[in-house]
Amino acid sequence: MRNILISSLLAASVLCACHSNVSSEKTFDAPTVQINFDADSAYKYVAEQVAFGPRVPKSQSHAACLAYLTSTLTRMGATVEVQTGEGEAYDGTTVPINNIIAHILPQKANRILLCTHWDSRPFADQDSDPVKRNSPIDGACDGASGVGVLIEIARQLQLQAPNIGVDIVLFDTEDGGTPSHLNNVEYRHDSWCVGSQYWSLSSLGRDCQARFGILLDMVGATGAQFCREQYSVMYAKNVVDKVWRAAAATDHKSNFPDSDGAYITDDHYYVNTNANVPCVDIIQYDGSTGSSFGSFWHTHNDNMSVIDRQTLRAVGETVLYVVYNER
Ligand SMILES: [Zn+2]
Repeated sequence: MRNILISSLLAASVLCACHSNVSSEKTFDAPTVQINFDADSAYKYVAEQVAFGPRVPKSQSHAACLAYLTSTLTRMGATVEVQTGEGEAYDGTTVPINNIIAHILPQKANRILLCTHWDSRPFADQDSDPVKRNSPIDGACDGASGVGVLIEIARQLQLQAPNIGVDIVLFDTEDGGTPSHLNNVEYRHDSWCVGSQYWSLSSLGRDCQARFGILLDMVGATGAQFCREQYSVMYAKNVVDKVWRAAAATDHKSNFPDSDGAYITDDHYYVNTNANVPCVDIIQYDGSTGSSFGSFWHTHNDNMSVIDRQTLRAVGETVLYVVYNER
């Protein structure tokens, strides 16, 4: 997905706690509102995206899913716009961009940003079977899981309004970065996160009023551990602390251990550096794999079989706790 720089010190210090099932207790000490996050509903939103087929830009599946996402978010009371543009793919060709932006309570000046990417990878360059590496992946976790959680959050915010406004941004064209299985292809660092680069340099990004942001990426796999991503710590330490406190308050420390992860070049990097919105990345960290991502990462194993409602719930309740605590 993206370039990773893991310092040996950080890698050595990672001690993610073992995953265990937690109760689905719904009432938390603070805020005073009851937090509801329906994991079955979020799971359904993940499955519906996957059912379109791989959401690769320029494909029919991508176009059909774009219509589904805009209509779904509109139905949940958000004011939805699609930012269209063009970017450059790893091979220098032009790639279209459709960033989906959903404004919840747009009249509120006090706002935060929730984001993820909705496209899926055009290749399976990490797959163990070389024959299958040229075909696109389902992207159930890498793409659809973050979107599924944010749609369910939008649904809940319509049922129980927060004190602040929320902008949900579904970035396009995140995952078409330079494939590793092709010969004679020069690596391009800027071939990832093309949609968020475009948004963050546009007036929508530069004028974004959000006080801070939370990016979700690969937030659906069974037993996922979310360790503190290091660009998040560098640019938005107080938001990292806020999110980990929320995870503890909602009884999800097993998914959010008190541990450091890697430096991941993900959409939040450009939200921080171009749009100047302090933004953290909630992203699975697996210290047992060479990539630091789950073993399914950029393979055909990234399908619905890896998606676990418990993980979706842990992320959804944590983020909703943050949202309802803001004034
Ligand atoms: Zn990816």
